[in-house]
Amino acid sequence: MERFWEHLTLEELSPSQWESLCDGCAQCCRIKLEDEDDGTLAETAVVCHLLDRDGCRCTAYADRSTLVPDCVTLTPEAARTLRWMPETCAYRRLAEGRPLPPWHPLLTGNPDSVHEARASVRGQVLSEVDVHPDDFEAHIIRWVTP
Ligand code: SF4
Ligand code: SF4
Repeated sequence: MERFWEHLTLEELSPSQWESLCDGCAQCCRIKLEDEDDGTLAETAVVCHLLDRDGCRCTAYADRSTLVPDCVTLTPEAARTLRWMPETCAYRRLAEGRPLPPWHPLLTGNPDSVHEARASVRGQVLSEVDVHPDDFEAHIIRWVTP
């Protein structure tokens, strides 16, 4: 496959090229808690109720922004500025001038390689439908300074 991501900017990608960059990790579907005083974000091991935790896919992708107002629609600008996006996310990496991780499905040709590398949330998260909101704090895994 032509390594289009190595010579096009994020703004130059076609819609299908843009979509193909998503490795399907679902790390961005983790519930985040915000400190109201300083804006610090806490990322949790709890994920959005619309996530299929085994397939790591959104079950309502076309309607996600309506159903989950906090769900971020990624843009090149967002990829450059959102500090909570995971280090492994292809959009963030390309925005920072870094290569795709070696297990990325575009490099391996295998959509499961993200799971085999344990870079996805498969097997590592709970659904928000199974956790009381008062208990989200008990599942914080890292703090992110915006
Ligand atoms: S973190 Fe990036 S690569 Fe992973 S699912 Fe979200 S947008 Fe796709
Ligand atoms: S709406 Fe879909 S894409 Fe958005 S956070 Fe929830 S599962 Fe992820």
